[in-house]
Amino acid sequence: QASYQKMSKSESIKVVVRCRPLNSREKEDGRQKIVDMDKKSCQVVLNNPKGDTSGEPPKQFTFDAVMDEFISQKDVYELSARPIVSNVIEGYNGTVFAYGQTGTGKTHTMDGGPTPELQGLIPNSFEHIFSEVEASTDKQWMVRASYLEIYNEEVRDLLSKNPDVALELKEHKESGVYVKGLNAFVVKSVGELRNVVEVGKKNKSVGATAMNKDSSRSHSIFTITIESMDAGNKDGGHVRVGKLNLVDLAGSERQSKTGATGDRLKEATKINLSLSALGNVISALVDGKSGHIPYRDSKLTRMLQDSLGGNTKTVMVANVGPADWNYDETLSTLRYANRAK
Ligand code: ADP
Ligand code: MG
Repeated sequence: QASYQKMSKSESIKVVVRCRPLNSREKEDGRQKIVDMDKKSCQVVLNNPKGDTSGEPPKQFTFDAVMDEFISQKDVYELSARPIVSNVIEGYNGTVFAYGQTGTGKTHTMDGGPTPELQGLIPNSFEHIFSEVEASTDKQWMVRASYLEIYNEEVRDLLSKNPDVALELKEHKESGVYVKGLNAFVVKSVGELRNVVEVGKKNKSVGATAMNKDSSRSHSIFTITIESMDAGNKDGGHVRVGKLNLVDLAGSERQSKTGATGDRLKEATKINLSLSALGNVISALVDGKSGHIPYRDSKLTRMLQDSLGGNTKTVMVANVGPADWNYDETLSTLRYANRAK
C-alpha cells in the first residue's frame, strides 16, 4: 500500500476526515463503497474502483481522527470542535472548517438537522458556550455573532438589511483585518444565536435565487466573538476576547467536469483560488519553516488571518463520500487534507 502519511504534525492545526453513508441513490445504483476507515489507527484507505486496471495500489492516509458513517453528531463535536470552542471561551481565536466536494456532508457537519441528535457543530458550539457562560459566577460576558458569505471573492453580510451589498476588507494598524460595515449582534442565549443563524440562512437563499448564484460555490463564515471580564472589576479589568469562526467552505470539486464557461468559469476559478490559498496558508503554518504565510492571496485567508496560526487552534473536517463514482474527488480531498497536516 502506498502511504501518504507525513511526519510533521502541528498541535494547533488538526485535520480529521468524515465519510458519510452511501445515500439511497447510490444504493439503488449499486455503487460500491471504496473508502475504509480505521478509527484506532486514524487511517483512511481509498480502494480502487471496480474494473480499475491501473495497477495502482490502494491509497492510505493517516489523520488526527477519522469519522465513519456511524459516528453521532455529538461525537463529531467532541472529536473536532470542543477543544477549539473551549479555547475560544478562554480568550483565544479558533476556526473550524468543513471542506469537501458538494454533497459529502459539509453543511450536515456544520449545521446538521432539526433534531437535537442531528444538530451539527454550530448549534453544539452554541450550547457549549452558553453552558459555560451560565455556569460562571465570577465573570461578565458579552457574546456577539456575525455571519457573512464570500462569493466570487466578494464579501456580503448575511445579517444585513441589504445583503446584496459587497463589503470591503480593511486593515487597522492594531486590530488587523476587518470587514467594513459588518453587523455583529449581541446575543444572550442559545435561542438568540439560533435566530441569528436563521436570518442569515434566509438571506443566503434569497440572495442565491435573486442573483442566480450557485450556493455550493460560496464560503459562509459564522463568527462568534466572546468577551469576558472579571465581575469584580467594573473598569480597568482585563478583558479577554476570543473569536470562533465556523466556516462552511465552497464545494471543492473541480469545475472542468461541469463544462463551465464565461462568468461561471470565472467564478469557479476564484473558488479554486481561495481554496488553494487556504491550503497554502495551512501547509505553510504546519510546515513552520517558511517565515512567509501567504494570507493575502485570497479574501478568505485575509479575513481569517488573526484566527489561523499563532496561538489559535484550527480544525479542518474534510468530508468525503464513500462511493466509487467519486474516486477522483475523494482522492483530491484526501490529498488536500493530508497536505494540511
Ligand atoms: P454539502 O454541504 O457538502 O454539499 P450536505 O451536508 O448538504 O453536503 O449533505 C448532502 C446530503 O447528504 C444531505 O441530504 C445530508 O443530510 C446527507 N448527509 C451528509 N452527511 C451525512 C451523514 N454523515 N449521515 C447522514 N446523512 C448525511
Ligand atoms: Mg452545503
